[in-house]
Amino acid sequence: MTASVVTAAKTSRCSRGDRPAAHNAPMRFPLLTLLPLALGCASRPAAPPPDEIDALLAEVSPARIRADVDRLVSFGTRHTLSATEGPRGIGAARRWLKEEFERIGAASGRTGDDAVRVRFDVHRQFPAPRVPKEVDVVNVECVIPGTSPRRVYVVGHYDSRASEPNDAEADAPGANDDGSGTVALLEAARVLSTRRFDATIVLLATAGEEQGLLGAHFHAKDARKSKTPIVGVLSNDIVGDPSGPDGASSRDVIRLFSEGLPRGATPDDVKRVTSLAAESDSPSRQLARYVAEVAERRGTRVRPRLIFRPDRFLRGGDHLAFNEAGYAAVRFTDVFEKYDRQHQDVRVEAGRRYGDEPEFVDAEYLADVTRLNCAAAAHLANAPDQPADVRVLVAELVTDTTLRWTKSKDADVAGYEVVWRRTTSPTWDDVRDVGDVDAVTLPQSKDEFLFGVRAYDRDGFRCAVVFPAAAKE
Ligand SMILES: [Zn+2]
Repeated sequence: MTASVVTAAKTSRCSRGDRPAAHNAPMRFPLLTLLPLALGCASRPAAPPPDEIDALLAEVSPARIRADVDRLVSFGTRHTLSATEGPRGIGAARRWLKEEFERIGAASGRTGDDAVRVRFDVHRQFPAPRVPKEVDVVNVECVIPGTSPRRVYVVGHYDSRASEPNDAEADAPGANDDGSGTVALLEAARVLSTRRFDATIVLLATAGEEQGLLGAHFHAKDARKSKTPIVGVLSNDIVGDPSGPDGASSRDVIRLFSEGLPRGATPDDVKRVTSLAAESDSPSRQLARYVAEVAERRGTRVRPRLIFRPDRFLRGGDHLAFNEAGYAAVRFTDVFEKYDRQHQDVRVEAGRRYGDEPEFVDAEYLADVTRLNCAAAAHLANAPDQPADVRVLVAELVTDTTLRWTKSKDADVAGYEVVWRRTTSPTWDDVRDVGDVDAVTLPQSKDEFLFGVRAYDRDGFRCAVVFPAAAKE
């Protein structure tokens, strides 16, 4: 775990293109962990090797992103209760989105079972506080099939709103909220659909977010009901404007929010979390750490700033609907809040401009946020299935730490890593490659450190960390 080892990791063939590790990098890579990386370059044609991920990230186009933001805004309003016929309103916007995903699917060259599938995901919403009349909430879903049943989601909401939450007539450009997240989905579809991944990647443009996360709630509940194995949800909501007050800029940063205590936790769950000191170790938080580590490995320009809370005060987003359904889900959002652009009628008042207009979206920045999403989705979609039943043994008073787990079901799993950190540390500090085993004893005390286990495959792709339960065995 010296600086020279880090350098070796960064210059191995699989990691070509990575930037040097930052001195405060969240992960260090002991020599043993280089082996799966080094061995993985040669085989397994089904998944793109790490270099291929760099290639797909390079294809992300700020010019296309710029054009897509302008096109979305041209529908005038995308309010969930706005017109469904004619050139203005949410109907025209979703027809265009669907056609665009279909064009991307056709251009990908995939056919048969492997073809990109695009559909309207329609749900009838009855009157509710922000829904004065019955309306169809229509998500647009683009599915890029993989070979495993696991799914990775990237989400943005394509609906928009003006000052009054129920005003379906006023202009509501929604360029950044959430035109930015929506066009990130289109661009991700373009660069991801021409590659093959283990997991299925779903790009979901939701409606009804501004009326109470309606589209995401419907979709997440259905997924839970059908026990769809979603390994991670990356929600992008307001991700295109790095500018701050007085010329400040967060050009290289995006905030990444994740819940600590799972939203759907039962009293028994809370008891278990408390006894394990797992307040900061929910699956969503492991997902957030995963994104940060992928950013580090791939050397993305925009890096996530991990925020350990579900969302901002007085705000919510689609990731919460997935959290409620029991899924690991996180939210990307800009660093600087601009309340005169969010949820505002377009106007000038006392010399001050209001409204979420396209000129405030920075296409180059949004392209970098899209790259971060694509990198995280590609790694997650290539990662092996997680080890199951991960547990730390607490039957006796001993100072070392024994972990056991049930091996991942994936045939291409090459081994396991144990990660650990001090209880005060936000991200995993250390990692040890323990090989293709299902138990290990480490000298570190489980009273002083938090541990986790993850699987890696022959290409060096890792799954998100699984936090152990306690077991008396
Ligand atoms: Zn939003």
